[in-house]
Amino acid sequence: MDETKDFIDDGKIEALLAAAARPERQRTEEIIAKARELKGLTPAETAVLLMTEDGELIERIQAAAREIKQAIYGNRLVLFAPLYIANHCSNDCLYCGFRRSNGELTRVALTMDQIASEVGVLEREGHKRLLMLCGEHPNRSSLDYFVEAIETAYAVRTDKDGEIRRINVEIAPLDVDGFRRLKATKIGTYVLFQETYHHETYRRMHPSGPKADFAWRVTAMHRAQEGGIDDVGIGALFGLYDYRYEVLGLLCHALQLEQDCGVGPHTISIPRLQPALNAPAAVSPPHPVSDGEFKKLVAILRLAVPYTGIILTTRETPELRNDVFNLGVSQISAGSRTNPGGYKSDSSAQFRAAQFNLGDTRTPDEVIHDITLMGHIPSFCTACYRLGRTGQDFMELAKPGLIQKFCRTNAILTFKEYLLDYASPETRAAGDDLIARLVAETPSAKLRGTLTERLGRMEAGQRDLYV
Ligand code: SAM
Ligand code: SF4
Repeated sequence: MDETKDFIDDGKIEALLAAAARPERQRTEEIIAKARELKGLTPAETAVLLMTEDGELIERIQAAAREIKQAIYGNRLVLFAPLYIANHCSNDCLYCGFRRSNGELTRVALTMDQIASEVGVLEREGHKRLLMLCGEHPNRSSLDYFVEAIETAYAVRTDKDGEIRRINVEIAPLDVDGFRRLKATKIGTYVLFQETYHHETYRRMHPSGPKADFAWRVTAMHRAQEGGIDDVGIGALFGLYDYRYEVLGLLCHALQLEQDCGVGPHTISIPRLQPALNAPAAVSPPHPVSDGEFKKLVAILRLAVPYTGIILTTRETPELRNDVFNLGVSQISAGSRTNPGGYKSDSSAQFRAAQFNLGDTRTPDEVIHDITLMGHIPSFCTACYRLGRTGQDFMELAKPGLIQKFCRTNAILTFKEYLLDYASPETRAAGDDLIARLVAETPSAKLRGTLTERLGRMEAGQRDLYV
């Protein structure tokens, strides 16, 4: 494929939604039944689910999503922390606090020492996975600066074997050579949100700066793949345009990647617009998505692309987050700050440097405690990435359900590491109870043996054990 050719066809997406209007009950039921076979859905089938308004059928879509999430991912939830390193930006995205015309924002580009100190705070909270981000600025957020920041973060060691084992990155689109350089720093996933797949809305939301070029952004994942990054994560910012349109946009993007690169996206992110300083589109979202619609769209994504991880961030409130975990979310952030330097010092002045406001302000330990009580296994696993199980190799493992076996074991082992080294007494007690139950419920005697043996080694002081 021409690596700069826009492949999103507004007319086609609109026609799919129009053709699916007022779907017959039987058709919706057939599509739910197909999705339960874990085969994924076509855009036309997904459009039918999106156009379904019947409450009882929506409940059945959500029940199918819970079943699929359980079959493929089990109870685990992978945890990560975002790390914002700089907030200068040449773009003027109408929804973002970092936008160029926000004269009230305190602009910060962290030094390498400051980055190391932020990473130290996150390591002492137990984090092993980071998502590193910044604004788009030729001098303040150059690729050289970003690469140095990644190397700095990977090198930070704190007591109790504190280290970052995987850094995913979310920065402005690069050319193929740029992606090659990024790959050489051993990043995990390259993440980039299209924000909206609707061209006219995109044009209005991005009035100036390099981000105004829709095609350059939508083809970034193709260039990333060409540059050797085989785990890529796409996303849409919900609230900018009709959520049904955006879900189909995400699906078309995923299918195009599968067709052209042989592998679809590793993850899909589903941020929803939050209030932000001097960002008009964030203060009054043009197409607000209600909690009910949000739950519906998470469930439909789970049915449409069952093997793609779904990421939910602390933009959402604890109540909503708890609701959607069971519907298909597989990765979550915890204890986030969206202002560069926010982990080390969290004064109100610093808050004026934030990208947007947070819905969930619990500490990581509080989040971990709460999800443990709900029966989810908090996972800090980075094994697949470190063993080279990425891109197509990951998908080949994921499809027959093997990942469930690896992931569940590694989730338990990394959770144990957290409990031993970082948890509060309450979280430790709740976590040890959960792990005892999970070991007892492990059907394979061999796997049960492996788990018991490794957990014993960890109690005796060993760390970083995985399968
Ligand atoms: N500057 C790069 C970019 O725009 O892709 C890097 C990531 S930017 C710091 C992270 C993401 O935050 C954006 O892609 C956007 O979807 C999201 N974001 C911006 N403003 C937001 C808001 N008010 N509420 C929720 N998410 C927002
Ligand atoms: Fe800059 Fe990204 Fe914010 Fe747009 S979303 S203003 S590109 S930081």
